[in-house]
Amino acid sequence: MQQSDLTWNTALLYPAPDSPELEADLDSFEQLAADFRSSYFERVAALDDPALLSAICGYEALQSRMAKPFCYAHLLFAADSGNEQFRALSQRCSELGSRLSQQLLFFDLELMALDEERFELFRSYPEAAGYLHFLDGIRKFRPHTLKENEERLLTRKDLTGVRAFTKLFDELSASFVYQMELDGKQREFTGEELLSLLHHTSPDVRFRAMTTFLERHGEHGIVYNAVFNNMALDHGQEMELRSYQTPIQPTNIGNEIPDEAVEHLMCVTEANYGLAQEYFRLKAGMLNMEKLRNCDIYAPVAKAERIYDFEEAKTLVVDSYCKYDPAFGAIVQAFFSERRVDVMPRVGKSGGAFAMGISPDLPPFLLLNFTGTLRDLATIAHEAGHGLHFVISQKQSALNYHAPLPLAETASVFGEMLLTRKLLDNEQDPIVRRSLLCAKIEDIIATTFRQTVLTRFELRLHNERIRGLLSNDRIAEIWLEENGKLYGDSVEMIPAYRWGWSYISHFIHSRFYCYSYTFAELLVLALFQKYREDGDAFKPGYLALLESGGALSPADTARLAGIDIKDSGFWQKGYDVLAGLIEELKQIA
Ligand SMILES: [Zn+2]
Repeated sequence: MQQSDLTWNTALLYPAPDSPELEADLDSFEQLAADFRSSYFERVAALDDPALLSAICGYEALQSRMAKPFCYAHLLFAADSGNEQFRALSQRCSELGSRLSQQLLFFDLELMALDEERFELFRSYPEAAGYLHFLDGIRKFRPHTLKENEERLLTRKDLTGVRAFTKLFDELSASFVYQMELDGKQREFTGEELLSLLHHTSPDVRFRAMTTFLERHGEHGIVYNAVFNNMALDHGQEMELRSYQTPIQPTNIGNEIPDEAVEHLMCVTEANYGLAQEYFRLKAGMLNMEKLRNCDIYAPVAKAERIYDFEEAKTLVVDSYCKYDPAFGAIVQAFFSERRVDVMPRVGKSGGAFAMGISPDLPPFLLLNFTGTLRDLATIAHEAGHGLHFVISQKQSALNYHAPLPLAETASVFGEMLLTRKLLDNEQDPIVRRSLLCAKIEDIIATTFRQTVLTRFELRLHNERIRGLLSNDRIAEIWLEENGKLYGDSVEMIPAYRWGWSYISHFIHSRFYCYSYTFAELLVLALFQKYREDGDAFKPGYLALLESGGALSPADTARLAGIDIKDSGFWQKGYDVLAGLIEELKQIA
């Protein structure tokens, strides 16, 4: 394969960043937004049903048109952020985007402000049926929204309040350069580099890496204490102002997952902590250790890592989708044959990986940074799953295109499972099989059990802060207690772990986000289990789930595949899959 085939072909969207087509699109938007505004500003409440529907359709068409150049600019920038022309285009689009959203914001606000009676009337208008989830999405925070001038005041004071603490947290954490000795040499490390040493073969290196990382945070304990206490206090005050019953409620409303379902999810998870402990004991045995310390959890079990070349990796991924359904395989294959994937790492290219779905009438794109590891292979399967989801949900209109957040990882994690299964079934070498199983099990433990530990800690932090200031000793106590429930006597926590809470940016940036990972992972494991039990009969339901995109709530979407998210038996199904994997590992360990 030619090297050029491994970069993406953005000409599928526009011929070039200076093409007249792109220029014409960008030029037209301010007028279009102004026209929309002059048609509907301060008039939404007075529109009759057909007129309101036509306003929503107009709004949707506008959003859909704007997505194309903005996504194009983002793709160019992600592939080469050092290119001046791409940087300028990206900056121009973000400024234009901000002006457009200010112009159009009124529409959401006026939909939110419609009185209950008018809103219900419109909801029952048959032609509006396709937009119910969109409308409910806009209205869901209505009971907790303050008067406009109060909202503006809060936003303004946040700048010097909670947002200032967030910024302080980011700047402090990003400023750290760590010193540690490795291979006989004292050298500098970034935090990312230190944490990646948790995969090192030497127990001593793993211990020192984790300790160095955490103790550095501990040196700034005064700042982290102020940040965490003030974040929690600020949220406590907002709860009171906005009449929320519990600290987690706003997150659950945003995710459209009922409080009871979240509590169920966490209780079932906690009831399965024994599975993690069983694995940790097994792993201690594989590493010839009496007992694991928490810095050993990601230690490699094989001496050398298997490296894949890209052709081989791509074929494995496409085949694993094909084996599930040839139509899925064809969709994934098309990403590569139509050059909608940028594969290799380069200077100036953005790190990590992503999939970008633009709109229902344009093809999605994938960005990878392939280096040949098993992790990279799993990433192809993951991003291809997102891509597949974006293609399959193109039956929906633009406002219903993107899956609701808790379901956004469904196809990607399901795709990873298909790949793991294929690799395990094809692999004869017990050493490689063991590594594959450990990688998958550790991945599941990190996205389910650990996220529940984090969420329980976060809940206790918020609830205790309502009663008064928390010292770092108290925060560490809660932290170690919640972690201790997971580890039991199977893992010993290293002394520096008392600072383990201080670097988790989700606590600061996206409150109570962590349980979404548990939700997504278990949903997929349960779907996967259902697939293994029901075989072909499972497939139409799963397809319907993917096809529905963002047209329905997470509960209604999951129901299409025969899953009731309020049923705790369903969550247990996910852990049964994990138990099966651990059993498989025991056979070869
Ligand atoms: Zn993902």
